[in-house]
Amino acid sequence: MPDVPPSEPEWFDRPDPTGATLTGEVGLRFTCTQCGNCCSGLPGYVGFTPEEGRAIARMLGVSEEEFIDRYTRDTPEGRSIKDIRPEGSNSWDCVFLTREGGRTGCSIYDVRPAQCRTWPFWRSNLRSRDDWQRASTGCPGMNTGALHRPGSVRLTRDRVDI
Ligand code: SF4
Repeated sequence: MPDVPPSEPEWFDRPDPTGATLTGEVGLRFTCTQCGNCCSGLPGYVGFTPEEGRAIARMLGVSEEEFIDRYTRDTPEGRSIKDIRPEGSNSWDCVFLTREGGRTGCSIYDVRPAQCRTWPFWRSNLRSRDDWQRASTGCPGMNTGALHRPGSVRLTRDRVDI
């Protein structure tokens, strides 16, 4: 399928001029390695829409009220999915992060919020190549793996305002 041309070219519409991070192709590479970095560390904000909250509650087999009470918390940005500190750990995990056999996963993967689905193609990471590179220091899946063409990057970016 042909890529959709932008009205105004953006930095990721051109190959990396240094060739240091990309191979000269146009687009951004990303495939999640399931390292779990983005779902752990310091407590963070993971927002969800009312529809997403209902879908998660349905998947968990609990009422919406129970989902809100047990799995979310208040933050200055609004209600967020909760973080928990595993026993013996000094870091925090998303309450839905699973760790089995050295691999991480997401127990609500099929109904995870758009914020999680759209990483790393967030507006905040796409403002400039430097922002993209900064984000990639914590995410080993960036600049490797599948090539995402600029039109698809834009579509994903425009799904959330982050
Ligand atoms: S930090 Fe990147 S590679 Fe690691 S789990 Fe998150 S998206 Fe995947």
